Amino acid sequence: MPNTSKQHSESDLDPNPNYTGRFAPSPSGQLHFGSLVTALASYLDAKHCHGRWLVRMEDIDEPRCIAGTDTAILHSLEAHGLQWDGEVMYQSQQHSRYQEVVNALLHHQQAYYCSCTRKMIKAMGGTYNGHCRDKGLTPSNDQLAIRLKLDTELAPFTDLIMGEVSAPHQKLAGHKVEKQRVEDITIKRRDQLFSYNLVVVLDDVFQGVTHVIRGCDLIDVTPLHRCVHQSLGYQPLEYGHVPVAAIAPGRKLSKQNHATPIDNTTALENIVRALHFLGFDEVKRQDFNSIDSLLSFAISLWNRKKVVKTPEIIVPQHESTYYSVP
Ligand code: GLU
Ligand code: ZN
Repeated sequence: MPNTSKQHSESDLDPNPNYTGRFAPSPSGQLHFGSLVTALASYLDAKHCHGRWLVRMEDIDEPRCIAGTDTAILHSLEAHGLQWDGEVMYQSQQHSRYQEVVNALLHHQQAYYCSCTRKMIKAMGGTYNGHCRDKGLTPSNDQLAIRLKLDTELAPFTDLIMGEVSAPHQKLAGHKVEKQRVEDITIKRRDQLFSYNLVVVLDDVFQGVTHVIRGCDLIDVTPLHRCVHQSLGYQPLEYGHVPVAAIAPGRKLSKQNHATPIDNTTALENIVRALHFLGFDEVKRQDFNSIDSLLSFAISLWNRKKVVKTPEIIVPQHESTYYSVP
């Protein structure tokens, strides 16, 4: 077993018994190399800090979910030794809790009904301008969307891994940039689906999550999530984003991009590759004969400072273990 003492002294993370982290896959596709990287990073960060690691199935957008994918994901996590703490939470079973929050927000005039169509929002320049805020609309025959009043600004934040992240700006004509207005986001859609930007915040709070380690594809939406947290009166969380695996610039590995489901029979190799991807090149496959020994080594080795600070890394297709060409 390689010596870990040097790495220990390089990492400045103290054990934190209050730490709760989570992995929140959408069961719209099986675990692939990119989602394994995210799962592993959030697991290692939690376990390095002596914290809990939860799994939440983000099946809120039910039409996009595929039956049986949740069990396949859980099976893959187990095959890779990524054992979660407690019960797996399913968003599809939380509707009454979400509805209670929405009702309370409507009751306190923190949320309101909105009848604006996509076409109208396009005519506003693409950002919703608060058109229905003071209209006092009530649901009639038409299904209306529900929006959350947001009066705070998108603020920069310090990412646990990527460092300082500025709030998104709007590019105007003549290379001018201006602070992006936060629009009153939809929290329940016209088709009655609760929106992801609401439930992700509610669930993290409900599950007592303290640290969110996830892919850089969500780094731009984090200022908004922090803003929603704040406007609902919750304490902000810590966020850290790891590089996403992509097949070409801007095309992250995903079911749409023909990502191959991870092969559970090569779990050790997969974890070693995921560690290399994250920047831990010193891990050698031949030094380990079990997932448990590899994971305990990786837990002690984990160091946020060592994670590659690039939002996206292109993975090679040649071994055809990452994705297949259609
Ligand atoms: N369910 C999201 C996804 O699979 C992740 C959301 C999150 O980690 O906050 O992309
Ligand atoms: Zn409106």
